[in-house]
Amino acid sequence: MVDDTPANLELLSVMLKGRGYRVRAAVSGRLALQAARNDPPDLILLDISMPEMDGYEVCAKLKSEERLKDIPIIFLSALTETMDKVKAFGAGGVDYIIKPFQFEEVEARVAAHLELRRQKVLLQENYIRLRELEKKRDDLVHMIVHDLRTPLTVIAGYNTLITEDRKNVLSGESAAYISENMKAVQQMIQIVSDVLDTSKMEEGQMTLKLENCDLGGLLEESASGMESLLEGRKIRFTPPVNPAFVRADKELVFRVIQNLLGNALKYTPDNSGLIQVKLQPAGGRVRVIVSDNGPGIAPEHRARIFEKFGQVGIRTDQKRYSTGLGLTFCKLAVEAHGGSIGVEGEAGQGSSFWFDLPVNGPARDAAPAAKE
Ligand code: ADP
Repeated sequence: MVDDTPANLELLSVMLKGRGYRVRAAVSGRLALQAARNDPPDLILLDISMPEMDGYEVCAKLKSEERLKDIPIIFLSALTETMDKVKAFGAGGVDYIIKPFQFEEVEARVAAHLELRRQKVLLQENYIRLRELEKKRDDLVHMIVHDLRTPLTVIAGYNTLITEDRKNVLSGESAAYISENMKAVQQMIQIVSDVLDTSKMEEGQMTLKLENCDLGGLLEESASGMESLLEGRKIRFTPPVNPAFVRADKELVFRVIQNLLGNALKYTPDNSGLIQVKLQPAGGRVRVIVSDNGPGIAPEHRARIFEKFGQVGIRTDQKRYSTGLGLTFCKLAVEAHGGSIGVEGEAGQGSSFWFDLPVNGPARDAAPAAKE
């Protein structure tokens, strides 16, 4: 309690102590600040009109110190003008009581603000705890996924050896099984890479291997690599007459394109799916657009699909894998290049995903740690 009139302090002190509160009194702003620094209180009742340092100034000083800034301050004052109250709230006060006051009112307000403060502290503690748990979960997932990559690569390697071994004549059936095996392994490797690279990029630990990339070439390569997955769908892309070069990490950009094309295939119907790919140079940037005639994405879901594990609705199609990480990976990869990514199109009328990359690459060519 801060008041330059000892009688006021005495009166309120006795009453609050009577209700079980521990009260410390200070007769000036300077003494109040000292006392608060020595042992921060749970709440401060602060008079406004005081010589030397008024209540507003005391409040401003408290708010400027990290350890004291969250202590709730209730102003107690004989000033009744609305502007005085507004100024008190503006300074960071949580409440304003006009003198002379009824003790019951002071007590009720003190109790309410102490409870609010208690809830806020609890919320902050829970938030910190949740972040710690989230970090533990991410570390564990990271560890498991990381360990999965080696055996998966081994399986993929032996699959390739089996199909390439000319002496080993596989029956048509066995060759088909191996090919299905290979598709599944490639999908698993893709999931593992998405999870690992997403966490690496989130922590800013992915170094870009910058080189001059021909975006048209990458789009063609990616589209032709998807031929076995088309199942009657069509991908339309006419490379531009003049090649569109950007300074970028070729492997990352290739994977962004693959993710977008892969999604366009995933979300369009067999046989009638049409995917159109365009390349538009614009100023110092080049834009890649992948449009499809699938279900489209409602405006309210557009931000969510770029978040980690963000998906719209529950996918009932068990045929294709889905982690909700693909677009998060794309966003992080494009932004690491100083580019941007987005989606347009109305629900029910197909979607049009686009990303821009600066022709000259990111503003700075360096990132903290090396890619594995
Ligand atoms: P995943 O496809 O693994 O679920 P993504 O991050 O690639 O994860 O996509 C997130 C969500 O965005 C998808 O679950 C889907 O709801 C939506 N989405 C992505 N691409 C398309 C598309 N071409 N058409 C319709 N919806 C899409």
